[in-house]
Amino acid sequence: MNSLHETHSTYSIRGKESNPISNPVKSSLRILYLTNRCNLACTYCYEGLGDTFKYGGMVPAIPSLKQLIKQVDDIIAEEPEEEKQTLFLLFGGEPLMQWKNMKDVMLHAMLQKNNIHFNAITNGVLLTKPKFLKDFISFFKEHHDIIQKFSLDISFDGVGNGERVYRNGKKSAPTVLKALAMLSAIDEEIMKFRWRIRYTIQETNIDRWKEDILHLNKTFNPYRIITSIDSAMEDKNLNAHEKLKRDISSLRSLWKTKALNTPVCGFFCDTCDECAGTHDYKYYYTDKGLTKKQLHSENMGPFEDSGQWDSSSLK
Ligand code: SF4
Repeated sequence: MNSLHETHSTYSIRGKESNPISNPVKSSLRILYLTNRCNLACTYCYEGLGDTFKYGGMVPAIPSLKQLIKQVDDIIAEEPEEEKQTLFLLFGGEPLMQWKNMKDVMLHAMLQKNNIHFNAITNGVLLTKPKFLKDFISFFKEHHDIIQKFSLDISFDGVGNGERVYRNGKKSAPTVLKALAMLSAIDEEIMKFRWRIRYTIQETNIDRWKEDILHLNKTFNPYRIITSIDSAMEDKNLNAHEKLKRDISSLRSLWKTKALNTPVCGFFCDTCDECAGTHDYKYYYTDKGLTKKQLHSENMGPFEDSGQWDSSSLK
């Protein structure tokens, strides 16, 4: 029997000609950790924030702007060629909690190289704060060159999800739905802003994930919906396996008939091999500098058990 991950990827349609795995000019994914702080404490947090908050929290690790600028300069010095795209993943914790640094990093990088792209992954909570949203929108309105090279992913695992929670255990889903509504309300004539939803299929939403995808498509019409499988989900869960296959087939049928019009990465998209195919290595930068390098095909996984970022894994 295939693993759930294999089923997930086997069901995607990939055109051989367009598959950039054969493209010799590969980019590297440069993951800049802007902070290990977060305004949520998800139970499954890969940074272990769900647990650490319970025990008083881990030591804050927030790189200074000076450190971030040096990381950007080092990265671009390593791959200055314009035919090679440098992809910065602005990550956390919750990266928008370091919005000022994020803006300055993008402004600085834009002066160094043209062929770059920024992707930020957020839980969306800050976007519901009017003051924050105003500044966020006005920054991109002022910098049309950056908005062309920026994509924002909002993590959302479904209505009623009890895993993505605040520190007091309150569910974050209603807030994130509000954020999605705010993003979808941005007038494209005024600002063409590309944002996507990241949806992790897990034990707790396997029964309704397809309905969630259809709802997200219809209500918010994001640029894309990116799906993945929670690594904690048991492959031996036969029901989950069959359900996943049935739902993927059903979504693909809806896609063909145009009843679903948001591309669902992993199932329909044949242009980028779910983005990862364009990258050879992933590099992780924290306040301790470059802490890890791994092949894109390896699972990101947690930063092992030290509770601090681990430089010993640097290969
Ligand atoms: S939003 Fe992300 S970083 Fe924050 S607690 Fe949840 S999984 Fe961890």
